[in-house]
Amino acid sequence: MVDPVRRDVVAGAQTVVIKVGTNVLAGPTGHLDRHRIESLADQLHRVRESGRKVVLVTSGAIGAGVGKLGLGKRPTDLAHLQACAAVGQSALMQLYQECLTRYGIHTAQILLTADDFENRVRYLNARNTISTLFEYGALPIINENDTVSVAEIKFGDNDHLAAMVTNLLLAPLLVLLTNVDGLYSDDPRTNPDAQLLPTVPNIDSSVTGLAAATKSALGTGGMESKLKAARLVTVAGEAVIMANGSLDGILDRVFAGEPVGTLFLPHGEGVSSRKRWFGLTVRPKGILWLDHGARKAVSEGKSLLPIGVTEVDGEFEKGDVVSLCADGGSEVARGLTNYSAAEARRIRGLNTDHIPAVLGSLPYAELVHRDNLVLTS
Ligand code: GLU
Repeated sequence: MVDPVRRDVVAGAQTVVIKVGTNVLAGPTGHLDRHRIESLADQLHRVRESGRKVVLVTSGAIGAGVGKLGLGKRPTDLAHLQACAAVGQSALMQLYQECLTRYGIHTAQILLTADDFENRVRYLNARNTISTLFEYGALPIINENDTVSVAEIKFGDNDHLAAMVTNLLLAPLLVLLTNVDGLYSDDPRTNPDAQLLPTVPNIDSSVTGLAAATKSALGTGGMESKLKAARLVTVAGEAVIMANGSLDGILDRVFAGEPVGTLFLPHGEGVSSRKRWFGLTVRPKGILWLDHGARKAVSEGKSLLPIGVTEVDGEFEKGDVVSLCADGGSEVARGLTNYSAAEARRIRGLNTDHIPAVLGSLPYAELVHRDNLVLTS
């Protein structure tokens, strides 16, 4: 059965990012599942044969390292996890290469850290390299560079990494392959009436609230992170399909437009490449708290004026990325600030006419100009 909405979403996706989770690739002791990876390679080949550019974001390095070293279970401290990742990453890549080589596909390993995405030059370099790999017909296979990533510079999980890569490439579709069928209306193990949601038009708080229900079924607590990642993609104007990577032929079915898993529809219009970088990729350095009027104005696409700011948190300089939040802590937008934190503290709540008396001049009427704002809610 083909769903017309799905058919349109996949038809429009000429570049796709496919993310595969550890639970799909490896068993509980960490041994890589050769049959699963062979089947995945076979399907990846077909997706590429349909003329699409494909990037694979893969987890499984730590799991594979645990398996290869015969540890029986995952270590808990960072140094041992990083060592497992180093052992497992090469095993993972070797298996992908073995399975893809029969289709004449070259694999290309790319290991990235969150820092690489914060740095505009490295960010653009990653994009150039991926474009060149497409030119060579190679398959970029991306994982986090776990051996050097520590807590402060980690993506946190590969769902987030995959969302960043999707936005980096302006790819219209991210496919998240996990070991649950998709997002449920309730925990299917305790509620027989729980329904798999085939389509989610907007990931709002009513949807994120469903994460807990599916969490227990997933076993790793990953649904929340998947929804956060999906949201980063849908607010940029692209689609996400979450499906069960443990099912045979799942990618074939996704790309045939079958209603498998959960489709998260784009929310709003496509966000430009520049805005995706500062609005959805770089971590904000501070927070501007908005009053009710400013919240409304910003939500309608207007600039943020100092008069609408009630509080300023953090230390930042002119040109840094800041988060614009409203009462209750919810983020409304992100943008590039025209004033440092120290200046913003002095002019917050002031009418524009009063700013020269405080700062000596009026370099900008706007604290954040609408051209430098991205709505994130
Ligand atoms: N980079 C980790 C690994 O390869 C996976 C992180 C995740 O599963 O989100 O094991």
